[in-house]
Amino acid sequence: MEMVFPPGSTIGLLGGGQLGRMFAIAARRMGYRVHTFEPSPDSPAGQISDREFNGSYADWDLLEAFVRSVDVVTFEFENIPAQVVDRISRSKPVHPRSEVLHICQNREREKNFLRDHRYPHAPFAVISNQEELDAALDSIGAPAVLKSADFGYDGKGQQKIKQGDRFDYSRAPANRSVLEKWVSFDRELSVICARDAKGNVCLFPVSENVHSRQILDYSIVPARIDPAVQRLAQSMAKNIADDLDVVGLIAVEFFLTRGNELIVNELAPRPHNSGHYTFDACVTSQFEQQLRAVCGLPFGSPALLRPVVMVNLLGDLWHAGRQPDWGPVLNHPYAKLHLYGKLEGRPGRKMGHFCVLRETIEQALAEALQIKEELIT
Ligand code: AMP
Repeated sequence: MEMVFPPGSTIGLLGGGQLGRMFAIAARRMGYRVHTFEPSPDSPAGQISDREFNGSYADWDLLEAFVRSVDVVTFEFENIPAQVVDRISRSKPVHPRSEVLHICQNREREKNFLRDHRYPHAPFAVISNQEELDAALDSIGAPAVLKSADFGYDGKGQQKIKQGDRFDYSRAPANRSVLEKWVSFDRELSVICARDAKGNVCLFPVSENVHSRQILDYSIVPARIDPAVQRLAQSMAKNIADDLDVVGLIAVEFFLTRGNELIVNELAPRPHNSGHYTFDACVTSQFEQQLRAVCGLPFGSPALLRPVVMVNLLGDLWHAGRQPDWGPVLNHPYAKLHLYGKLEGRPGRKMGHFCVLRETIEQALAEALQIKEELIT
């Protein structure tokens, strides 16, 4: 039976990062209360929440107090122990369900899901020792990338292996890994799909994503691709959401090859960095759609209001603890600045982003890259 949680209800949010912050902004704007559970105090989401519970995911007394204080639970972070989510779901509804989290938080299970459901994916092998690695490199071929099975994101726990390299597995980032063929792609794309408990789905426009050092650098929407590829990416995302029986959001990342073939790279059952543009540029953002799915409300339109380019702001822009001069973004009347309330700007750390909304995607892209350049210099 589907439960409806109207405005005024309290949402429990597991994880206190920027995805949770933007979720909390969307929820509080609609009159919901938000309680966040997060190990570190003064988290980006905690700053926006009614209450922040700080403790470890092993502190069951604190988790229980958190669960008692809320009506329904969702998450913004994948690496929450699935057994914690399991245990919470015995007393309160949790969306997406813990099985979805369990599959998506581990590359081995995620790849097996893609293979078992016949979604196109890069050839891969599961590795736990040198012999398995050598055999897999022989069969899959180099270049390839070795990724830790657990806790990987933004290129963390990844090691590229080039043609002719012999990789010493004792230097691997984890005991258990996935070796994946390196895909020579033309573009990277992603689609976010919202799905509710009745199986209704809502698809956001395809985002074209440019990465640097394996971290998302900027997203371009609409993606500059064939409409048929766009439709195929969206229908694959919908099918994946259905197969996983997601209630909430699922983000699907793709590689697009030169031959216009789509290959699924990764799944994330939560708001996604490549969907930040929806906050400024869509009638309904990914964060509001997650809220609506979790609370049993009808979906809002995901329609794109204007072409948009979203640029990530990493901690590399911070020098000697000082934030950059935001003049280039603030002086641009079509640029929107988002900062996540993080105090320490470490290299590679996502500190904020900005969006440029323009009449054409070419103009938005040129102006966004210009602002980016000015922020660096
Ligand atoms: P991931 O965390 O697996 O999404 O990897 C981060 C980024 O690294 C991707 O968005 C790609 O830019 C790059 N990457 C990861 N795996 C591959 C691959 N098999 N082939 C080519 N590029 C990859």
